[in-house]
Amino acid sequence: MAFVVLASVSCGAGEPVASPASVHETPGSTTPVSASDSTSPSPSPTGPPPFSAKVSRVARDQLPYSWRPGCPVHYRDLRLVTLTYWGFDDKPHTGRLVVRKTVTDDIVTVFKRLYGWRWPIKQMKLVDAYKGDDYDSIDADNTSAFNCRPATGSSNWSNHAYGEAIDINPRENPYVTASGSTAHQNAKKFAKRPVSGKGVVNPGDKVVKAFSRVGWEWGGYWSGTKDYQHFSKGGG
Ligand SMILES: [Zn+2]
Repeated sequence: MAFVVLASVSCGAGEPVASPASVHETPGSTTPVSASDSTSPSPSPTGPPPFSAKVSRVARDQLPYSWRPGCPVHYRDLRLVTLTYWGFDDKPHTGRLVVRKTVTDDIVTVFKRLYGWRWPIKQMKLVDAYKGDDYDSIDADNTSAFNCRPATGSSNWSNHAYGEAIDINPRENPYVTASGSTAHQNAKKFAKRPVSGKGVVNPGDKVVKAFSRVGWEWGGYWSGTKDYQHFSKGGG
């Protein structure tokens, strides 16, 4: 890994952060996961705060639902990434993602770019806020990554179980079967591409290219079934 280790984090008062992409790793905290864990960075007098990202080890009790013994990646090989994202409300927010430790640089690189573009994300909580229930997380339009579960319609592990996949704005970017249906009523108007709208990913979009540059492929390019919310390391 190539983290820049910093002695302290600039936050709130004082000068703007000089190196907005700075990332450091801290020991795991025991902060419990809850459904009301979103916070907002302090606004600065000159505009929104610069992008920031923090990579931390994950404690077992932070993943009460999404990880269990027998999962293909141990929780010690996962990382919590706490980062700035731009919201549907046109304001900066702090979100949390869990990914495999080998892909934290990929994720930070992409989300720094998205924030720079003010590309909007509805919300970003760990799937544990939904008791690990993928359906409920998607229905809430929650962007999330790690979840130890099989692939949809399969008995094999999903790339999410390896912490190497992320679902972005799943209401605006639904999983659509080859016959054109989606399991989520609130996503039906987004079942076709291209479609315009906040947080939508279309073929050839800069979001797709940003992921592609770090080696992540988009589920919107699958043949047959399309998974417009899904990006994964190396595809699949
Ligand atoms: Zn996915």
